[in-house]
Amino acid sequence: MTTTYNELLGDITDPNGRAIFDPATGELVGKAPFCGVEKLDAAIARTKAAQPAWSARSADERKSLLLEAADAIEGASEPLAELLSREQGKPLNGPNARFEVGSCAKWLRATASTDVPVQTLIDDEEDYAELRYRPLGVVGAIGPWNWPMMITVWQVAPALRMGNTVVVKPSEHTPLSVLALVKILNTVLPEDVLSVVAGDGDLGARLSSHPDIAKLMFTGSTSTGQAIIRSSADTVKRLTLELGGNDAGIVLPGVDPKAIAQELFWGAFINTGQTCAALKRLYVHTDVYDGVCEALTEVANATPMGRGLDEKNVLGPLQNKAQYDIVAELVERAKDSGATILTGGTPDTYAPGYFYPATLVSDIDNNNPLVTEEQFGPALPIVRYTTVDEAVELANALDVGLGASVWGPDREAARTVAARIQAGTVWINSHGGVHPMIPFGGVKKSGYGLEFGMEGLKAVSAPQVING
Ligand code: NDP
Repeated sequence: MTTTYNELLGDITDPNGRAIFDPATGELVGKAPFCGVEKLDAAIARTKAAQPAWSARSADERKSLLLEAADAIEGASEPLAELLSREQGKPLNGPNARFEVGSCAKWLRATASTDVPVQTLIDDEEDYAELRYRPLGVVGAIGPWNWPMMITVWQVAPALRMGNTVVVKPSEHTPLSVLALVKILNTVLPEDVLSVVAGDGDLGARLSSHPDIAKLMFTGSTSTGQAIIRSSADTVKRLTLELGGNDAGIVLPGVDPKAIAQELFWGAFINTGQTCAALKRLYVHTDVYDGVCEALTEVANATPMGRGLDEKNVLGPLQNKAQYDIVAELVERAKDSGATILTGGTPDTYAPGYFYPATLVSDIDNNNPLVTEEQFGPALPIVRYTTVDEAVELANALDVGLGASVWGPDREAARTVAARIQAGTVWINSHGGVHPMIPFGGVKKSGYGLEFGMEGLKAVSAPQVING
């Protein structure tokens, strides 16, 4: 079955819904359903009723349905990518819309194909104990607007695989992408196993306090994560909180700046900087500082930004006005402090859309807000350091720790530095790459709970010991 873009949009939009505009052009993309709390409650009730039958299926049955769902995503990949590009703003090409849709299928397949075996803990003449992982019930999923389809799959795939049913609450900024993805998944999944409810500003709080939601998965800001911890307390919900951060990269002496510039650039500017585990502050040894600044500037100047549907572009607009304003203000404050703008820093205010140029800022003080606050956009501060101890101290100074990276010619030496950094993942000579079988999660105020692989499957399950 093939789906066209217009059919897909027709299936998920509501003429009386809330208008969603293309952040690149201001054009109407479509009207998203705008549901109240009663619709959410009804969806939770239906999803709860569907859970026993879903968990009663064998693991193999759930696996094969999820594999079929991955095929369905691939079958609709172009309309999904077009919608994602129009609504989120990200280009079709580069590590963007087509990449995101492809990653949804890849993640679904890998997660579906991973078994969580019963673990024998002890089996001797005196004792026997085994550890099993049972479904929790209904899982709630609140996703962000930066990678709306991929992060929905990250939340939904393990939960379904383990026998839970799921209610998804998309970001108000990108509801259509998530509605479309769920629509495609539901061409394969049994009724009410997976629901999505888009709507007004009360849904998130209701989902996180609802007595029939056993576990909540959230990706977004630390302040909303903290609100979720509070509102989930009465029902003692399990939580996975992926709260972003302010990832540091440390460039060691001895690197070849030209050789690492592309990887460094994309580590910071993937999705136009709107990525939880993107490189957000770069510490460069004084010996290679000028070379790295120069090589990065060359890459930034050669990387096309523009409307996502134009095949040549690989950087897009900021997704929304609030995020544009955050980035613009942080860069202004950096300029006011006397920092050097190597490239960018002056948006074209007459162009439509929330475009902010790729911006590199050097000679910046480590206490500048562009360094200490999460910019979540295309502006990278580059700070000079002289000793590795100093760089590690600066990297660890903030109260967040999702990712980090170390760049150097000697991998073993780089790993030694990496082990000193307070972050959930530290990459060597790259930044931000994730894999469906490698656990991912943060420390400090970047949240808790692991996603992906075996650890991710266990995180959406209730461990049960059978003893005796
Ligand atoms: P938030 O991170 O604040 O999250 C908004 C979502 O959380 C909405 O779906 C909202 O639902 C829900 N929500 C709000 N309050 C509660 C609550 N008490 N309980 C449960 N859910 C709740 O998103 P923003 O778009 O406002 O982004 C703010 C900042 O977060 C950005 O500037 C960026 O720095 C960061 N961010 C980080 C991301 C990451 O990947 N880690 C992704 C996106 C943003 P409702 O509307 O129903 O209240």
